[in-house]
Amino acid sequence: MALKADVPHWDLDQYYLPDSGKLETDLALMRTKCEGFAERRGLLVPGRALGPAEFLDCLRELEDITRLAHFLEGYAALAFAQDTSDQRAQSQLARVEEALTHVENDVMFFTLWWKELPDGEAGPLLEAAPGYRYMLSRSRAFRIHTLGEAEEKICNIKDLNGRQALQRLYDTITNGYRFEGSFLPGGGAGTMGREELMVHARSHLPEVREGAYRELYRVYGQAGPHLGQIFLALAGDWHLEQVSLRRHPSPQAARNKINDLGAETVESLLRVCRRRVPEVFGPYFRLKAKRLGLGTLRRYDVYAPLVPAEGTYSFPEAMAEVEGAFRSFDGQFADLALKVAADRRLDAGLRPGKQGGAFCASSVPGQTPWVLANFTGQRHDLFTLAHELGHAVHSQLAACLNVFEFHSALPLAETASTFGEMLLTRRLMGKAGEREREDLGFALLDDAYATVGRQAFFSLFEVQAHEMISRGATPDELAEAYLANLAEQFAGSVEVGDEFRWEWVSIPHFFHVPFYVYAYSFGQLLVYSLWRLYESQGPAFVPRMKAILAKGGSASPETILSQAGLGPLDDEFWLGGFEVIEGFIPRDQRE
Ligand SMILES: [Zn+2]
Repeated sequence: MALKADVPHWDLDQYYLPDSGKLETDLALMRTKCEGFAERRGLLVPGRALGPAEFLDCLRELEDITRLAHFLEGYAALAFAQDTSDQRAQSQLARVEEALTHVENDVMFFTLWWKELPDGEAGPLLEAAPGYRYMLSRSRAFRIHTLGEAEEKICNIKDLNGRQALQRLYDTITNGYRFEGSFLPGGGAGTMGREELMVHARSHLPEVREGAYRELYRVYGQAGPHLGQIFLALAGDWHLEQVSLRRHPSPQAARNKINDLGAETVESLLRVCRRRVPEVFGPYFRLKAKRLGLGTLRRYDVYAPLVPAEGTYSFPEAMAEVEGAFRSFDGQFADLALKVAADRRLDAGLRPGKQGGAFCASSVPGQTPWVLANFTGQRHDLFTLAHELGHAVHSQLAACLNVFEFHSALPLAETASTFGEMLLTRRLMGKAGEREREDLGFALLDDAYATVGRQAFFSLFEVQAHEMISRGATPDELAEAYLANLAEQFAGSVEVGDEFRWEWVSIPHFFHVPFYVYAYSFGQLLVYSLWRLYESQGPAFVPRMKAILAKGGSASPETILSQAGLGPLDDEFWLGGFEVIEGFIPRDQRE
């Protein structure tokens, strides 16, 4: 285990000092700003054309309110993530979310007016506000899915103690899970959190890997029917709102529209993955079984290392590797990553109640992002750091955009993060001996499976699950469907234990952001294409990559990529990504 003292804790006090009353002051300020904005309603009356200057004033005021709202929400979310069992943080998050809902409702009249404005009147105003163009035209694209002001407000208010409360409940329940260490050699003592448990799932000892997975799904499996009920309620709510009320053609169509991706692009991605994942990874899993000396690979062995880990990394060592990897690409990349730690916005230690996994949060442009990780000193954690710091670089490169357009859409959100992981792989391979280099090559393929294959099949399952739920399916029936999904993706190359039927209730994205996960497959296949360009173009590629990232969410993903000379995003594009993956599989031993 890494030394505790080396691992940074973020300094949330630089956001708001506890008990300083500043959070309350800002909440009150936000209310005052909203009241001021509400006076604009008098300007937006039928028969009175709004002048370009008045329109710009409205937008700037709205931007100011939105910035403050994101800033407040950012804080409450971080305080909760820091300790999800802290009841003060729980109620603070609920309170801020409630205040934000009121803000959203207070300013809604402007957005609704804008959406309903006839094209002839909207055109000149759009011309007058070039800095907000994408946000404004996106907003109008949702006109047909928008309800009346009263209905929109009711939806928002009911979500507070509806879907948002269910999501908080799911987080509180699952972050509180403790796992028995009795599967460890010698019986292990005491309990551990999920992060520590998953370290054992990557052990070089087959029985330890098996024990860790069995323990994971013992705990989730016991709660499976209950967590499944939460999922049923969230999926049912999504369907009622997005399909029945807002008239999106399907539950996933709502997400595609939010992502500004055409249905055919997403269908093409998932179609190619559905065919190529078993074709590409099946032979890889058989090769891996051979190298591990196993007859058939078990699901427990999918992420097994070829060689036992050669010790662990201290946190400073891990950061040095990530920095070196980023600097080999571009000095600014490394500097922006280091700024997160220097500004004390990196929290990497293990604590009970702390949110599991890892994330990078960038609430407003111009503010150094916050990164949470659960560092255990394994090589895997280096990749998590490279990933999250990649996100942090991305949002800092896009910092000159306004608050509406600075977050990139989900499909491009994983570009810098996964590219950062590729850079780290290249660096570690350059330093490794022959055995470790081979192990890293296999780890790269494991990661390709985890991000492209596994997430694409999650996405296929999610589409199926929502469809089944709309026909009244039970959690047990969903679990059966999930096993069938696993059987299809592994196509006989991997043996799957029955306990994996509850894997889907352990995936937070299904509960928090419906239809999120294809963004991972999208992002990773895109990054393989970018990587191929980088290898062929060398340093000339660097500004091209930075230009993509600096666009944030100021245009559609397809526009941003085509401006960089990439696309169209059709079957051929995705197949190109799979070619890169196949190129990683050691040739001499390929069956
Ligand atoms: Zn990410």
